[in-house]
Amino acid sequence: MPSNEIGEFLRSELKCSIVEFNEDMRRHTSFRIGGKADVFVSPGSIDEMALVIKKAKELQIPIRALGNGSNLLVSDNGIKSIVLDCKSAANGIVFNNDRVNVSAGCILKTFCENAAEHELSGVEQAVGIPGTIGGALVMNAGANGYNIGNIVENVTVMDMNGDTFKIKKGELSFEYRHSSLKEAGYIILEAELALKKGNKNSLLRLMREELETRERKFPLNYPNAGSIFKRPKEGYPGQWVEMAGCKGMRIGDAEVSTKHANFIINKGSAKAGDVADLISQVKDIVAKKFSVNLEKEVIYWGM
Ligand SMILES: Cc1cc2nc3c(=O)[nH]c(=O)nc-3n(C[C@H](O)[C@H](O)[C@H](O)COP(=O)(O)OP(=O)(O)OC[C@H]3O[C@@H](n4cnc5c(N)ncnc54)[C@H](O)[C@@H]3O)c2cc1C
Repeated sequence: MPSNEIGEFLRSELKCSIVEFNEDMRRHTSFRIGGKADVFVSPGSIDEMALVIKKAKELQIPIRALGNGSNLLVSDNGIKSIVLDCKSAANGIVFNNDRVNVSAGCILKTFCENAAEHELSGVEQAVGIPGTIGGALVMNAGANGYNIGNIVENVTVMDMNGDTFKIKKGELSFEYRHSSLKEAGYIILEAELALKKGNKNSLLRLMREELETRERKFPLNYPNAGSIFKRPKEGYPGQWVEMAGCKGMRIGDAEVSTKHANFIINKGSAKAGDVADLISQVKDIVAKKFSVNLEKEVIYWGM
């Protein structure tokens, strides 16, 4: 990467953004794992985001969009690209009756709480997902049969020329833990979502219950990245992993949680390589014992 040139550009042209070099990605992932990002930019505005993207294109430096880092496994060897922190440029929420425009950087829990305050239902089931709106749209995040893609009206994105445009719902596709936005390579800026009238107190109660259930079921006291495997055609990944006898399996400080077998937890200073090896060993054991192919949900960066 032509680090001098990009460094000089970022230092001289960006006025309201934060730029870090050799930034430790452990600080930005829920797994608390990862090497250093060569360049880490938290744009202070959409305009400065566009400046970074255009310059990166000119210098042929890849860009990686970061939400809340809650579904990522980042290589121990770090990231040879610009990591663009999408939480900082904008994180507003604008309600217009049952339609709401929400910035990509907004954290789901904050959004759910705001929607409940406005007596609007349709996102409450996502309250326990610790990601941003942008990350949720890319992953079509959801829980208990709910998927965020179902309520999307349109999405505003920035392409790698720094141009901004809207994509309507008919031009988007959302499948289980996948959306067309994943391959598109755009930076998601904002979404318009369609909510329904709801009752504030029941929404707040539902959200509280959802958070309590998660606290009970998931190993939230250790760093993790949520479900490691997607749901296969039959059954649940946690059940297969448990039946295969993999609960508690450990490589280095990475361990298949004894509380919920579809979670891998970082018990201290786990390396990305430990987690990746554990994932592939568990996958192999389940495949050999039950002929079930578990596909990983967690996204690898630089591995
Ligand atoms: C404890 C725990 C529980 C979880 N429970 C669930 C659950 O119930 N359901 C579920 O679906 N997931 C769950 N997850 C996984 C994770 O929270 C979701 O996948 C979430 O949607 C990821 O959002 P993020 O902002 O953290 O994205 P990141 O992890 O930062 O990124 C994920 C992907 O989205 C891309 N991306 C992020 N923001 C943008 C943007 N603005 N523009 C373009 N691309 C972007 C990234 O490049 C990357 O490819 C859980 C994770 C944890 C740690």
